Amino acid sequence: MTRLAICPGSFDPVTYGHLDIIQRGAKIFDHVIVTVFNNQSKDPLFTVKERIELLKACTSDLPNVTVDSSSSLLMDYAKSKNAQAVIRGLRAVSDFEYEMQITSMNRQLYADIETFFMMTNNQYSFLSSSIVKEVAKYRANVSDMVPNVVEEALARKFK
Ligand code: ADP
Repeated sequence: MTRLAICPGSFDPVTYGHLDIIQRGAKIFDHVIVTVFNNQSKDPLFTVKERIELLKACTSDLPNVTVDSSSSLLMDYAKSKNAQAVIRGLRAVSDFEYEMQITSMNRQLYADIETFFMMTNNQYSFLSSSIVKEVAKYRANVSDMVPNVVEEALARKFK
């Protein structure tokens, strides 16, 4: 049986924190689908298409990782892909509270899909897409936070 995991998120834009989780997940699962969820309640900087392009460029060295998008409910999407697991990254205590709520709801919706939490690499504990956007807006250097291709895309948005 192929062990398939979904790595869901907004990825607006993808950061080294996301990539760390994706790379580590890809070592454990046979196949990881990184899925951009179009969360209407957030006001994204990048379109879904742009976020997918950036994710594809940043994961092209990982043969068992593919990129997709969805506007369905996460558990409906995971079920439709026959996934066994969902991977989420955990940074601070604030992530924990939110993730507990979502995971308990997801388990009620579909108990067969397990959620795996991966603790962030220490160096990325305080890294988020929002922080990156905030810093890039003032044209400060974000090269420690995102790959080159993302840095360039941010520079184009804020030029
Ligand atoms: P969402 O809107 O679903 O939280 P994000 O794009 O912010 O989407 O995050 C997607 C996933 O990546 C989440 O599981 C989040 O916890 C994780 N993540 C984001 N940044 C980091 C980081 N610096 N270290 C570890 N995990 C992270």
